[in-house]
Amino acid sequence: MFDNLSDRLGTVFDRLRGRGSLSEQDVRDAMREVRIALLEADVALPVVRRFIDAVTEKAIGSEVLKSVTPGQQVVKIVSDELTEMLGGDEPAELNFAAKPPVVIMMVGLQGSGKTTTTAKLGKLIKEKHGKKAIMASLDVNRPAAQEQLKVLGEQVQVATLPIVPGQQPVDIARRAMESAKLQAADVLLLDTAGRLHVDEALMAEMKAIANVSAPTEVLLVVDSLTGQDAVNVAQSFTGEVPLTGVVLTRMDGDARGGAALSMRYVTGKPIKFAGTGEKLDAIEAFDPGRVAGRILGMGDVVSLVEKAAATIKQDEAEALAKKMAQGKFDLDDLRMQLRQMQQMGGLGMLAGMMPGMKKAKAAMAASGMDDRVLLHMDAIIGSMTPKERKRPELMNAKRKKRVAAGSGTQVQDVNKVLKMHQEMARAMKQIKKMGGLKGLGALFG
Ligand code: GDP
Repeated sequence: MFDNLSDRLGTVFDRLRGRGSLSEQDVRDAMREVRIALLEADVALPVVRRFIDAVTEKAIGSEVLKSVTPGQQVVKIVSDELTEMLGGDEPAELNFAAKPPVVIMMVGLQGSGKTTTTAKLGKLIKEKHGKKAIMASLDVNRPAAQEQLKVLGEQVQVATLPIVPGQQPVDIARRAMESAKLQAADVLLLDTAGRLHVDEALMAEMKAIANVSAPTEVLLVVDSLTGQDAVNVAQSFTGEVPLTGVVLTRMDGDARGGAALSMRYVTGKPIKFAGTGEKLDAIEAFDPGRVAGRILGMGDVVSLVEKAAATIKQDEAEALAKKMAQGKFDLDDLRMQLRQMQQMGGLGMLAGMMPGMKKAKAAMAASGMDDRVLLHMDAIIGSMTPKERKRPELMNAKRKKRVAAGSGTQVQDVNKVLKMHQEMARAMKQIKKMGGLKGLGALFG
């Protein structure tokens, strides 16, 4: 996500941060580069203008330039404005405040990812919110559209409305309401038909469905890869149906990000979710602050921690936390961490989320290092004896040679693992000095 933009902005801000003093001209020069980067990311022109004006005014018109860390402050202003541009600090939550069944109506063009997103939301509503959902496809245009939702429903184990051949959308919507009530469902998801283009027939159908189902949420699904077209589609829908939010799909493949960055300003509608893959759990609540952080390469520590919490086994995490609190950290612990990194999606995923990791990853890629390194390191630690793993200082030249041979690596690779362990152990001690895990909190907060 946002890779190109992130790289471009990273270069500009590294230069700004590195300076002890900044002149007005420096800021204007930097903003010229930011402007080009945003335009290349396919952000709508009025949005770019507003953004550059706001940042320039705040950076130049205040005490920023006279401060001790002017570069940092400018980056902070950019970060705040970027958050604003992506939707501010309004949480992108689903609104369930209505008499059940709460109706969520999904609209959008054909191929935008509507049906997939409906199933993803069904799963999310069931698993994250613990609510009973039922899904119904009102798409009678595309052959097999209703079948598709049924199959996805089986995969995520969310009920779908039985298919009655020949029934028309508004009637299906009525039947779905009845059925949801009878089954005491909390939420009814209506997946509507798409078209290749926005047209009057489509809008009339959406209005009719909205009239009978009184949806609490009307979510427009658009493909982020279509850039400004996605924004235009959203604009056409806005006047016609009461949209409450937007879901941007295919964010996993969107290196530019123009749709995400223009959507809020141009349409006034919040982005509520981002689709990040074909799998049915590849959906994220859209948090403007976190996304801004990712774009600026400041990392997305919160998402990382959330992801870790979902992946890492509770007892392992607790055991590690305890060791960290005591300032102990041996090679077994390092190995566990390496495995967790693999489970969490490897270096590539981490690179986008951890501060400073982006550059580290680029450097690794340049030296031919990739996720296989994690496996190699695991093999190296696996070739040591339990005693060596507890007491890495035992590793002399002879032992290193044995371990290298055992793991099919070189002695220098063994040395790298030992060095990495040393550095991490030192960091753990540091954390202990700062007051254990509370200190860790302070580090992030
Ligand atoms: P619909 O016509 O709008 O209902 O679109 P579908 O739900 O059938 O999706 C069309 C294609 O896009 C399918 O192959 C989906 O797997 C894929 N797709 C949907 N959302 C995403 C996403 O967030 N990322 C990626 N990579 N693919 C997606």
